[in-house]
Amino acid sequence: MPLPRAALVDPNGWFLDRRLVLGGGLAAAGLLAAPAIIGRAGAQGVNWNRDPFALGVASGAPTPSGFVLWTRLAPDPLSPDPATPGGLSAESYSVAFEIAADAQMRNIVKGGMAVARREFGYSVHAGVAGLESNRPYWYRFMIGDAVSPIGRTRTVPALGMDLECLRFGFVSCSHYEVGYFSAYRHLAEENPDVVLFLGDYIYEYTYPPETPDLVRAHSDGVEATDLRTYRNRYAQYRMDPDLQRLHALAPALINWDDHELENDYANLFSQSHEDVESFRARRIAAYRAFYEHMPLSALSWPNGSLLHLYRRYSFGDLAEISLIDGRQYRSPAPCYTAPDWGRGRLQTNSDCPERLDEKRSMLGQRQEAWLYDGLHSSNARWNILGENVMMVPLLQRTESGEAAFWTDNWNGYPANRDRVLQTIQESGVSNPVLLAGDIHSFWANDIKLDFEDPNSPTIATEFVGSSITSNRPPYDLFLTYLKDNPHVKYFDSRVCGYAMVELTKEQMTTHFRAISDRTDPNATVSTLKTFVVENGRPGAVEI
Ligand code: FE
Ligand code: CA
Repeated sequence: MPLPRAALVDPNGWFLDRRLVLGGGLAAAGLLAAPAIIGRAGAQGVNWNRDPFALGVASGAPTPSGFVLWTRLAPDPLSPDPATPGGLSAESYSVAFEIAADAQMRNIVKGGMAVARREFGYSVHAGVAGLESNRPYWYRFMIGDAVSPIGRTRTVPALGMDLECLRFGFVSCSHYEVGYFSAYRHLAEENPDVVLFLGDYIYEYTYPPETPDLVRAHSDGVEATDLRTYRNRYAQYRMDPDLQRLHALAPALINWDDHELENDYANLFSQSHEDVESFRARRIAAYRAFYEHMPLSALSWPNGSLLHLYRRYSFGDLAEISLIDGRQYRSPAPCYTAPDWGRGRLQTNSDCPERLDEKRSMLGQRQEAWLYDGLHSSNARWNILGENVMMVPLLQRTESGEAAFWTDNWNGYPANRDRVLQTIQESGVSNPVLLAGDIHSFWANDIKLDFEDPNSPTIATEFVGSSITSNRPPYDLFLTYLKDNPHVKYFDSRVCGYAMVELTKEQMTTHFRAISDRTDPNATVSTLKTFVVENGRPGAVEI
């Protein structure tokens, strides 16, 4: 079934729907179907004087028969009182949802009730199954007299089914204080099938108010450290209209990086907590708030300080996208003890032989086994790893000119990187491609079997997207590193933006899109570079 794109390419598409709803025009427009469901929600007798759907809607975890629909009831999203998250105090609410085969919600194909519990900040995660594969659906939530915006999502093709084309964006690093989310808006206008969020969706820290060039403030002016402050941080980001629009338009595949909890943290090791137990309490709060605000399946239900995030998504015979979690299970930063064991640093081999320890893991033993099983068993044409951080070695120099590596990314875990590369080679997996964020700049890299040998074969391709808004590394300084890193084919840290990918059986086309000015809420977009990877030929080729 072809995608009825026109309805959603219109940049005002769902805002129009929303105005209809808020203006009471929905019934008049004939859009209020399935009165039985509305009646059940209405029976709870909630009359809202503030919109409980101020954080919008989202979807994710797409399967061939369904997805997860998300919203969070929050009529007062930034409520400062931890006893009333989102301004609510009841134990729970019943929220109705409807799924339609059309953008106007005329042909309702499924409906149901979901519970919004106080203990999860009144978030709703409605797992839906039993739908047709590989097609779009539209959805909305209702409670009492309130109706949410209409979102669009989609199911994926059945395993092994012939799929000709997949279009997706990948994004990372949106710091609210330093810019507007124009990159999210422009990605939404490209109408992707799915969006990969690769981490740093929020920033836990807050700049001092006197910092120059801040365009807007974190609401409570503090670093998020507990459930209330993490919740309110997510809520504030989700009130952003550009981010809401992107979530309402396409299902999200969610990864995280460090700033969902704390800068550069490693597992239970922090740069601000001397003991693991106090950091564990903070991690429990941060992971819970993350779950509350993301369209995650029950697989990712937070279990104390654990949240299972790594997951593989199949898109017929065309692609497998595996999101890998390089934060939760990693070994501590090498050569540090409390309180610096969760902090990246430049380390030389003579200063820090521990970095090279073969037992060090970024992914943890179980996830490594899962990843290697997947690489060995995949039959997909393209095999994409959505990582938190860039994989290629980046040799830098200390002030005395000695070779050194930054330890917060894969350079702190070279033995684990080698195991991944060996498995890619041994498995013969088809067209492996790595995608990452974290470093706030655009990169196209050759993945070499042995990075120390320039004649070693290129076995995979890596693309890294720039930040949505976050501060970028110094361009001129990083250019001086490139001569020591011949596997880097392209680097630019002068712009913010995102990446848009078109996959076909024969090639992968990756567009690096640049935003004109992160401080301009109406920033424009342009294409910085476009690269192609041909089927069977690893390595990015600029076109
Ligand atoms: Fe970041
Ligand atoms: Ca990061």
